[in-house]
Amino acid sequence: MQDMIKNNLEDIRKRIADACSRCGRDAGEVVLVAVSKTNPAQAVINAVTCGQIVFGENRVQELCEKQDEVSAAVSKPLEWHLIGHLQTNKVKYVIGRVKLIHSVDSLKLACEIDKESAKKGLISDILLEINISGEDSKFGLRPDEVLPVVSEISRMKNVRLRGLMTVAPFTDEPETNRIYFRKLKDLSVDISSQNIDNIDMSVLSMGMTGDFEIAIEEGATLIRVGTGIFGARDYKDKRV
Ligand SMILES: *Cc1c(COP(=O)(O)O)cnc(C)c1O
Repeated sequence: MQDMIKNNLEDIRKRIADACSRCGRDAGEVVLVAVSKTNPAQAVINAVTCGQIVFGENRVQELCEKQDEVSAAVSKPLEWHLIGHLQTNKVKYVIGRVKLIHSVDSLKLACEIDKESAKKGLISDILLEINISGEDSKFGLRPDEVLPVVSEISRMKNVRLRGLMTVAPFTDEPETNRIYFRKLKDLSVDISSQNIDNIDMSVLSMGMTGDFEIAIEEGATLIRVGTGIFGARDYKDKRV
């Protein structure tokens, strides 16, 4: 397992560097989030020994358990991101544990994050998840719902909006997702141009194993790669 993860990480890092040089970006602008969901803590520990420090999980309970197990074994400070759908009643468990919540898809959720962060005396960094492709099965705000939510968030004291996130359609043809990545970038430029107080749009979380190179070409600053690092996930009929 160690060798596979090491080789995969080297391969992904090289492909990130190649994609960046194709479009004239500095490879340092793109952060690789290793999506460790469904993989054991040991897989994370192995990735850490290959220099990986940012990890993404999509379920709160799994995140908490794995994070505790990994931090007992690893002395290096790591960065954990929550990338999956978050229910308001689970917010209290993640505040203070994660560096960034990618999947804020409602004003109600942002309010809850604000409230729980205030209780702990923290400021939480978040992204708004956008359903840019309009697929029914996807979480996320519709592009036309975003601006009013952004202005509400700009008044919150314990939440800092850093940018946008999207999950593009599953496809064997990554090129077909370019349009969605471009739309997310355009939306972020639009929001920035409104000069809303306290709102930063510097982060764009887009691109997964199948399409991260296209996402980088379209401006991704965080890419979320799971199977490309850890191999196929061990569950059936569910692609979450
Ligand atoms: C699982 C997951 C990923 C990683 O998917 P891969 O195709 O395995 O790279 C990225 N983002 C989100 C939100 C996920 O749930």
